[in-house]
Amino acid sequence: MPALSLVTLVSLVSTVFTKQLDAHPPQQQHGHWAQICSGNPTNRIRGCDRYGCGNFGADRHSGKEKHVGVDVICSDGATVYAPFSGQLSGPIRFFHNGNAIDDGVQIRGSGYCVKLVCIHPIRYHGQIRRGQRLGKMLPMQKVYPGIISHIHVENCDRSDPTHLLTPDVPPLPQRAQDGRWAAVCAGNPTNEIRGCDKYGCGYYGAPRRDGKGKHRAVDVICADGATVYAPFSGQLSGPVKFFHNGNAIDDGVQIRGPEFCVKLLCIHPIRYSGQISKGQVLGRMLPMQRVFPGITSHIHIENCDHSDPTSNLERGKGQRE
Ligand SMILES: [Zn+2]
Ligand SMILES: [Zn+2]
Repeated sequence: MPALSLVTLVSLVSTVFTKQLDAHPPQQQHGHWAQICSGNPTNRIRGCDRYGCGNFGADRHSGKEKHVGVDVICSDGATVYAPFSGQLSGPIRFFHNGNAIDDGVQIRGSGYCVKLVCIHPIRYHGQIRRGQRLGKMLPMQKVYPGIISHIHVENCDRSDPTHLLTPDVPPLPQRAQDGRWAAVCAGNPTNEIRGCDKYGCGYYGAPRRDGKGKHRAVDVICADGATVYAPFSGQLSGPVKFFHNGNAIDDGVQIRGPEFCVKLLCIHPIRYSGQISKGQVLGRMLPMQRVFPGITSHIHIENCDHSDPTSNLERGKGQRE
């Protein structure tokens, strides 16, 4: 009888384990950081509240500065876990005014380095393992009443950690759109095309160089620093450069799939080779405002054969109705 129960137990455990592997294929497990805050298993990012927005690149100080971190939602007092294994150091303080949330810690290891701020860590030094208890969320409501309480997560090199925090599995509306291109930029679910601004227009065939040239691409609106997704599955290659002058937006990547081939410019991809799946995080929008102040920031999307990609991009729009 005890032996039988053990067999039952083992088969139960392996069933559960198999189910978990289905949800998170092993090759993707180590690309992402673990859950950071209890109660937020997907590292959901703070939207906007009256104090600002939580995404990377959001305006700070009335647009004079940018948010160089990502705010992961976490309720006051919640348990905080280490996103990856590494070496602790600290304390990391942001406010330097001794307020109730002026504490934090740095973790360096596993190829990453990150600062977690507005938390109180269990210690400021020594080694920590991925998923291990790191500390607790400080009482942010006491300092900013009504804010969406959050851990400020900042890469030590101030790059965008969004793709490490969020799973590769695209949001549901994108997965449903088989045969259609997915939304390419966070914040623009319908692949809205740039209209006209003082630098020109974004549609296919728009005049360029005082009418001597034509825009053989489509400009999809995308805010500086926003996360960029793959419109379809395919093989990456690059870098693809347009300006060849080393300006801040001179980067891009090509995706070639069985049906389509496209170049996405003015973005920084997570990598320049290998396979990518439709809707997967492809990279981030580069700081176009720095190069063209006042332009409608956008991803320049060009079919490899210079044909018009508008109908492929707009399919996403029809799907939402
Ligand atoms: Zn923040
Ligand atoms: Zn363009």
